[in-house]
Amino acid sequence: MILIVTIEIIGAYFVRQLEEQNVQQFEDSVVIPAYRLNQVSESLNDNDSKTKENISNVIQDYTRNNNDITDVQIVDRNGIIVSTKDVDKESIGTKTLKDQVKKSISTDKKITQIYYDKATGSSYESISPVSSPDNSTVVGAIYVRASMESVYSGINNIIVIFLTASLVAGLLGAVIAIFIARAITRPIDEMKQQAVRMAEGDYSGQVRVYSPDELGQLAMAVNDLSVKVEEATENSESERRRLDSVLTQMSDGVIATNRLGNITVINEMAQEFLDKEEGEADGKPLVEILGVEDRISFDQLLENPEPMIIETSDISDNDDDDDNSLILNADFSLIQRNSGFISGMVCVLHDVTEQQKIDSERRQFVSNVSHELRTPLTSISSYIDALNNGAWENKELAPQFLKVTAEETDRMIRMIQDLLNLSRMDQGRSKLDKELVNFNEFFSYILDRFDMMLKKEKADAKEDDKKVVKNYRIKRIFTNKDLWVELDTDKMTQVMDNIINNAIKYSPDGGVITCRLLETNKHIIISISDQGLGIPRKDIKKVFDRFYRVDKARSRKQGGTGLGLSISKEIVEQHKGRIWVNSAEGKGSTFYISLPFDPNETGGEWDEI
Ligand code: ADP
Repeated sequence: MILIVTIEIIGAYFVRQLEEQNVQQFEDSVVIPAYRLNQVSESLNDNDSKTKENISNVIQDYTRNNNDITDVQIVDRNGIIVSTKDVDKESIGTKTLKDQVKKSISTDKKITQIYYDKATGSSYESISPVSSPDNSTVVGAIYVRASMESVYSGINNIIVIFLTASLVAGLLGAVIAIFIARAITRPIDEMKQQAVRMAEGDYSGQVRVYSPDELGQLAMAVNDLSVKVEEATENSESERRRLDSVLTQMSDGVIATNRLGNITVINEMAQEFLDKEEGEADGKPLVEILGVEDRISFDQLLENPEPMIIETSDISDNDDDDDNSLILNADFSLIQRNSGFISGMVCVLHDVTEQQKIDSERRQFVSNVSHELRTPLTSISSYIDALNNGAWENKELAPQFLKVTAEETDRMIRMIQDLLNLSRMDQGRSKLDKELVNFNEFFSYILDRFDMMLKKEKADAKEDDKKVVKNYRIKRIFTNKDLWVELDTDKMTQVMDNIINNAIKYSPDGGVITCRLLETNKHIIISISDQGLGIPRKDIKKVFDRFYRVDKARSRKQGGTGLGLSISKEIVEQHKGRIWVNSAEGKGSTFYISLPFDPNETGGEWDEI
């Protein structure tokens, strides 16, 4: 199109120029020479008999060599035709009918015009006024008409040649353009299709390289890019899989967010910690999922990503599962690009429940020990002060004061002994010295001792009126079968003593203490029930904790340290047994101990030996 338009513009300009030049040449060729004009001027001026002949000669000479001139008329100043080119010369002597001639004579101006007539074709007409020799007046005019057919037929020929040439050039140009366009668009089209395939994740295809030119180089670059993108995709895919498996295997919870603080990645452990179903936390705000939205906003976290402790009981709506609640340490770090732009945040959750529990137990223990020691020490110190201040001279008070200090000192020694035992067991330094024991006999022996003790106390009380003895009865319900158990008798005696002592301590006067011994397939079960105060439901789980006492004042008054049951528990567990308690407040408590036992063990071999 561009080619055709260019050719046409050039052609139009060229034809126009050619036409103007040809018309100019034609005008020059038909113009009457100056010397002949002078002759005509003189003749018209003289106006004698020779005039017509002279003028006729001039016309003959003038038109002889120029076939294009079809008509010449010479008119005098009155508009009378003096001479013509025509042979019949009928019009000579008549007044010219051409208004243009009259106009030229009157105005003394040359008039030229080109016109087209169907019969004669293009014609040229020129009317030149003729001045007198002295140039004072117009003496007439010369009218010339010439055919321009030769000029226009030449120009037309050139136009035809030009149109043919431009048509051929246009066609040729179009063919070449189509060919070149196809040569360019085909590889571009193939590259476009390859780019679409790459976008869909298919990197298998290759673009054909047609030539080593720029398009060929582009095709090679596309092929190269396809390989590189495939490699990069594979790398990032395997990187993602590795990250996924790392996140899945991690014992810590990991959460990643986007710039707005909404969760984009959360691993299984974090979901477990926060009690969320798969996909439940996706897209939710991090601060909401961690339950810290009241404490801190995500923007504040971005500004100050300090670690924080989160308790899952605060997040969960369910109050019943407090036992399963966790204490988590949340560490935050920003995901930052090289440019410094923060594109998100990573939160790592670490379960510190156990650690926190141990810490709090340790603190509680230290506070308990200090408290337990301070009470007897304060009382000892105050009695010693009183003695120092003169009470030692008082024969009644002094022995009483000394007795209390001695009792308090004993209690402290007992407590420290208990603590040392516990610490030894904690460190695994306390080894069991096991032997095979007939448990029925062992249990009977212990209970007999209590019966004896009560008897002795009652006998002592008879002698000493002041002494008050708490009465109780021990009832035994034992299996008939001998139960042979391997145990450390000293330590197990300590356990039994402690539980029976407690039963006596917390029983009312005259209470019955029922001791049972029975066996299951693999265990012996000892139970010691009393008819005492019982233990409130809320305290049942805690009575085996160190220093835990339901009624501190009462226990202390009775010489308790609050360590007896915890030591018993440790010893029973050392024997791979279990200790627990059932109690109804106000009705009494039953302590149970189960110990592993082999029913086939009879102890017979030892008897035989
Ligand atoms: P203590 O030296 O205070 O007796 P223990 O560890 O032996 O310490 O017992 C812990 C607590 O358990 C006691 O203070 C008491 O409140 C409670 N307890 C233990 N045995 C009984 C029982 N038979 N009846 C009621 N409460 C008991």
